[in-house]
Amino acid sequence: MASAIRGRIVQHPATGPGLGARPRGSVVLPRQRRTLPVVKTAAPAGGLVPDGGVPSGVSFEGYDKSAAERYLREQNPYPRALASVDEGDGGALYTGKRAVVVGAGPAGSTAAMFLARQGFQVEVYERRPEPKNDAVDTGRAYIIILIPRGQAALKELGVKLPEDEHFRTLGTVSHNAKGKTRVSKEEGNVTFSRSGLAQWLIDTARRRYPGRITYNFNVTAEEIDFKAKKIRFGTTGGIMSPARHVSYDLLVGTDGVASQVRGALAGYWGREGQPYNVDVDDSGREYKVYMGLKGDIEPPEFEGKTGASLHLYTSDDPFTSFTAHSNPDGTYSGTFSLQTGGFKDLHQPADYEALMRAKFKGVPEDWVPAAAQQLAAAPASPAGKRVRVSRMWGPGCVLLGDAAHAVTPVFGQGANSALESCLVLNKALTEAKGDVDAVPQRFNELRLEDAHSLYELDRKAYSFFRRKGPFDPDFLQLLAHVILGTILSKIVPFIYGSRPALLRLGSGIPYSQITAAVARDAKLAAVLLLALVAFVAAKVFKLI
Ligand SMILES: Cc1cc2nc3c(=O)[nH]c(=O)nc-3n(C[C@H](O)[C@H](O)[C@H](O)COP(=O)(O)OP(=O)(O)OC[C@H]3O[C@@H](n4cnc5c(N)ncnc54)[C@H](O)[C@@H]3O)c2cc1C
Repeated sequence: MASAIRGRIVQHPATGPGLGARPRGSVVLPRQRRTLPVVKTAAPAGGLVPDGGVPSGVSFEGYDKSAAERYLREQNPYPRALASVDEGDGGALYTGKRAVVVGAGPAGSTAAMFLARQGFQVEVYERRPEPKNDAVDTGRAYIIILIPRGQAALKELGVKLPEDEHFRTLGTVSHNAKGKTRVSKEEGNVTFSRSGLAQWLIDTARRRYPGRITYNFNVTAEEIDFKAKKIRFGTTGGIMSPARHVSYDLLVGTDGVASQVRGALAGYWGREGQPYNVDVDDSGREYKVYMGLKGDIEPPEFEGKTGASLHLYTSDDPFTSFTAHSNPDGTYSGTFSLQTGGFKDLHQPADYEALMRAKFKGVPEDWVPAAAQQLAAAPASPAGKRVRVSRMWGPGCVLLGDAAHAVTPVFGQGANSALESCLVLNKALTEAKGDVDAVPQRFNELRLEDAHSLYELDRKAYSFFRRKGPFDPDFLQLLAHVILGTILSKIVPFIYGSRPALLRLGSGIPYSQITAAVARDAKLAAVLLLALVAFVAAKVFKLI
């Protein structure tokens, strides 16, 4: 097994194409390499696709016959935003102030709604086309389950979850390498595809704050001047048009795991002579997506029920897995994951068929050729990275979501923690009482410890895949906490509480409390184990 790649950037220098003399504090962002098939878009006049605009002339090189594009054309994979959201307006502490949000993923749109509610005029800039017009994005979609931790932010905003029962989660069916199944019911959660969640939040933000939140698609952040509070955007369409310079009072970096804003912040702090650390660990896995398969795969527990189910097919190798999640139209979509680099050895659909048959028991036989056909044509994407930053702020700027604290999918926390960070931003806005310059540092104080704890939990859990499986010391700590915690919660619930903290990850319990409970229980388990060994030894040697 390959070990995780760990990169540390200290005092990150400003990188990227030079643009002549830059004022101190101004950072040119490194251009991101595109690994996906090229999307050719006819650039609209002015370079920016206005709110709700549809990019014209989109073609997908080498991907135009893909199931993703067909699926997008023939189905409507997006839940409808409800018109009946509460109109609770909150305070208007920041009326007249302008917020710029970079990235229209789950964190970007949720942050935009909190900012608008606090009185900001909000502009969201997104590098890609709007999800509903983006077959490549839909083709990369994977499932996200919104648990109470993530739902809390929407609840605070007064946004109702989709009422359609098809989005309500029924639970997970695990199929192990021998074909045995285990069903766990998880009612009360809501299941989206990643692009479905992003689009639903965009629609909700538009409906809820018309005129106060505007979206601009196909534009990318290119240069940030933190001191002057200015950001320059360029188009990501085919033809470069004049850049747009935008002034802001607050800049929110929600531009995902490869965040350009984070890179710019690192450059800024470096120039200021202040160390800025960014840890990026790779999960060592890649995935491809298939969609639109039909079949009767539900266990008796879910029969006759309406809702979303997730099927996890594991193999004898922890890096290789296959998932299937039910869609509202009755079809199944899912991912096929391999260790990074594994897809390079698979060329033809027959290669995928052979591997799937060798690795998984329980995937319906008639799915194998159909899925293999799609997988052979689909692009591979990295299946998650883990990010830790030493500061989630800069002057006039905050970092949220994957940009600040991405995690691997192991605990299903990425989008949920991203939405929770938006809730914390709202708290910082309220506490700063309209003093916009005080917001970034306050946000950092409120969120950094939990973000670092989330990183630690994810690292410990992922060590199971990375090194020695269940005998990894990091993983053993989690195991000790769960086993000892479960026993103690049964024997002394009035002292210990009802369940181990890790098993309450889905609730809003702060991540820092979970890491503290894990450390405490791991120590206690070690002491108890030593005491047991000493007792047995004393018995064996007849000392007692
Ligand atoms: C395989 C897989 C499974 C997952 N499963 C789960 C799960 O079950 N539960 C869960 O909670 N999370 C899950 N996650 C994680 C989840 O998808 C992310 O945590 C979540 O999408 C983060 O939201 P975000 O808005 O911070 O970032 P993103 O969703 O990455 O959005 C960032 C946006 O910024 C845009 N952008 C990037 N650069 C620029 C730029 N320079 N200018 C303008 N725009 C830019 C991007 O195009 C993108 O739209 C999973 C992730 C993977 C890979």
